[in-house]
Amino acid sequence: MGDDRGKPLFRGTALIADVLVEGDLPRGFVSLHTNERGGLALLPFQNEYVRVIAFDLAKMEISPKEPLDIEEVQETVDAIVPYPLRIGNPQWITRFRAQNRLLSTYRNERLFFAGDAAHLYIPVAAQGMNTGIQDAFNLAWKLSFVCRGRAPESLLDSYNEERHLIGERTRKLSDLLFQLFIKQARSTTYRKISSKVMGLALSTTPVQNLMSGRVSQTGVEYRHTALSKAQRFGGLPKSAINAGDRVPDLDLADDDGLGIRLYDLMRTPGFVLIGFASSYTSSRKKEAMAAELARLKDRYAGSLQCLMVLGEGLPRQGDVPTFLDARREVLHKLGARPGDVFLVRPDGYLAFRADDPRRLPGLLGSWLSTPVADSGVRTVPDGVLR
Ligand SMILES: Cc1cc2nc3c(=O)[nH]c(=O)nc-3n(C[C@H](O)[C@H](O)[C@H](O)COP(=O)(O)OP(=O)(O)OC[C@H]3O[C@@H](n4cnc5c(N)ncnc54)[C@H](O)[C@@H]3O)c2cc1C
Repeated sequence: MGDDRGKPLFRGTALIADVLVEGDLPRGFVSLHTNERGGLALLPFQNEYVRVIAFDLAKMEISPKEPLDIEEVQETVDAIVPYPLRIGNPQWITRFRAQNRLLSTYRNERLFFAGDAAHLYIPVAAQGMNTGIQDAFNLAWKLSFVCRGRAPESLLDSYNEERHLIGERTRKLSDLLFQLFIKQARSTTYRKISSKVMGLALSTTPVQNLMSGRVSQTGVEYRHTALSKAQRFGGLPKSAINAGDRVPDLDLADDDGLGIRLYDLMRTPGFVLIGFASSYTSSRKKEAMAAELARLKDRYAGSLQCLMVLGEGLPRQGDVPTFLDARREVLHKLGARPGDVFLVRPDGYLAFRADDPRRLPGLLGSWLSTPVADSGVRTVPDGVLR
């Protein structure tokens, strides 16, 4: 298992300090400044603190073990920021070695790597923690299901397949932002041109949407895996969600007419199977869907929550509870058609969708195993943890 760290851009030491700031710093925005001394980012938190991250070319040779004081950060701020700022009261202040490294695989037989053990990013895009948490979430439910004998062991292969590409993309994003930063610092011409181009690009909605999806990681999807590819439903409009996509939150109404969100229903750990019916669905089909969902709920008890969403009509409690698509979100956000069924994974991604509940048993087999009679003994498949 190698470490494909790529071409190092910056081997030096950077500075970080969470401080109080006096001066004309715009709040609610990230401010980036570059000049021949280096690059510096000012990231205001929700409280009054501001994070200063500086790649000061004059200080990059100093060992990260050398103590850092506020006067030294002030000197860097004065040298790079084009307007006066007074910093003080540091909550956290340190030098750190900027690295951009990624393991070539996140799995070596029974060992799984997540978080900083799998990747280290230059913190220009503030992605390290978010990426690590999503790695852990992606792996935890798979391990839990497989170790309890509730999912096929092959599900564990999807961890590296799904998360490594995201790790690679995040490394490229950090690289790109960092390159821009350093190139701007090193060349006045580049600084002038790229500031204009970036300013124009970042003022457009598509670029803003792309960047916010990338940086918040709500744009992460797993369409590239073998399982998603095999289970993608053909012929859908682009706006409809499909296998591997992140399922958006949905505003539904229950039998009391109260609003209930899909993400609240998903707090119970496990998969959620959603059937959608409307006035275009015949009573016979509605009953068949409810019966199939009830059967699967019993078959995969403890792993699967089943519910139906109605386009119109009265929701009711029951073996398979029904909810109303009061805001037409199932229709528009999922691109649901009457008779469709959706399997949502425990981490909120779409396992698959189908247009006929009779296809469910075949499709579910890739994700769930029928639990063996629970004797209290946990089933750990050979080679997984022993
Ligand atoms: C200067 C800087 C600024 C950053 N800013 C941001 C940011 O703004 N946003 C962001 O998302 N990310 C940021 N990051 C990255 C973020 O801090 C890390 O990605 C995140 O903390 C990694 O979490 P982790 O749990 O994978 O690893 P760690 O936080 O390193 O946790 C691993 C833990 O395991 C413990 N440990 C190690 N070995 C053993 C052992 N043998 N037995 C038991 N315990 C052990 C360690 O003591 C440690 O507590 C920043 C990083 C740096 C360096």
